[in-house]
Formats: sequence, C-alpha cells, structure tokens
Amino acid sequence: MRKKQNRPTGDDGLSPATSAGSPGLLVVISGPSGVGKGAVREALAASMPDLVYAVSATTREPRPGEVDGVHYHFLSGEEFRRRLDRGEFVEWANVYGHLYGTPGEPVYRLLREGRTVIMEKDVQGARTLRGVFPDGVFVFLLPPSVEELWRRQEGRATETEEGLAVRRQAVAAELAEVQWYDYAVVNDDLERAVAAVRAIITAERCRVRRVLSRWRMR
Ligand code: 5GP
Repeated sequence: MRKKQNRPTGDDGLSPATSAGSPGLLVVISGPSGVGKGAVREALAASMPDLVYAVSATTREPRPGEVDGVHYHFLSGEEFRRRLDRGEFVEWANVYGHLYGTPGEPVYRLLREGRTVIMEKDVQGARTLRGVFPDGVFVFLLPPSVEELWRRQEGRATETEEGLAVRRQAVAAELAEVQWYDYAVVNDDLERAVAAVRAIITAERCRVRRVLSRWRMR
C-alpha cells in the first residue's frame, strides 16, 4: 500500500479544512477487506434514511452490479490524476494496487448543511481524514477472528486469486490501526453490528456541541 495525500484545503480553497464547528457529522468506517463494511453500510442506510453516502472515485474496474456514480465514480488512471492535480480529492490512496480518492466538495457542502455523511475508507485514507476532520467519528469494523476473515475473503467471488492474496497480505497492518479509532465494532452478526453503529451515530449526534451548532442554525 502506498499513501499519498493531497494538501487539504477548506471548501473556500484557502483555509485548512476542518469539520469542527460545522453542523454536520462525518462518520468514517474502516476495516479489512471482507469484514462486511458494505453490508453494514447498506443495512444502516435502510434504517437511517437521512444518512448520506459519500461516493468515492476509483481506478479499479467495476464489479458486476456496481453502478458508476452510485457505488463509485469509476475513472481511468488519467482522469483520476487530472482530478488529483486539480485538488479535487480531500484524500487519496493506493489501496490493493488501485487508486481511490474522496471528492472534497460534496463532503464539505453536506457537512455545512448539517447532514450526516458516511464513508468507507481504508486505514490510510481514514488517517488522512482524521487530520482534515478532527471532529469526525471513526469506526473500525473487526471480524470475529482472523480465521473467519480468511473464510469470508475466500467466499467472495468478486476477487481474482491475485487480488485475494494482496488483500490477505494487508490484513495484519490494517488490524494494527484499530488503536487510534474512536470505536471498534465486531461484525459477528450483521444485525448486532448495525445496531452498534446506529447507536454510535445516535449518541454522537447528541453531543452537546453538535446539538448546539444545529440548534443555533434555526
Ligand atoms: P473495494 O475495491 O473492495 O471496493 O475497496 C477497497 C478498499 O478501498 C476498502 O477498504 C475501501 O474502504 C477503500 N476505499 C473505498 N473508497 C476509498 C477512498 O475514497 N479512499 C480510500 N483511501 N479508501 C477507499
């Protein structure tokens, strides 16, 4: 994995970006490949319809069923670089051999509007975002065990042998990053994991500073 980050700036393009004081809530979910981030996010979206998913850009090929603009913005390497050079990504990283980046403008706008924005990032991207949005909430999804994670990864029909090997190799380094996250949720049972993340979001929305910043907006 290789990490490189664009210099973060605020949505005015001048000031260092921060969500502190912004009325919205940023929720970043990380965890090793196969832990169930997508399933948790989809189930959350069904039960918390006011969550907004921030769509990332990637240079990887779409998997069957993935829709451009919904699951990812699927870009060529050239287009990704162009957007990177224009400073459009608030973070970007090389994950498992492909480039992934978070378009900054929609995130700043939604947070300013007081929305709860949820995103899935690898550990490198999450680290960058912690620096940019210190007020964000960072949740790490853990598998019940490493053996169970291997099993889930192998059960995924979407990866090539090579892709699987790369993802498997990254697991130990990814798990070591859990230390600095705000919350860790073990995904042993989808419903329980979703309930835990929902409780985290509900509690974080009730933090006095967030309630007051929304309340002052009225
Ligand atoms: P996948 O290719 O399986 O959809 O995602 C591979 C990894 O990239 C996952 O850990 C996912 O959370 C992460 N990822 C998705 N979008 C982004 C992004 O915009 N930035 C970063 N740093 N990681 C991302």
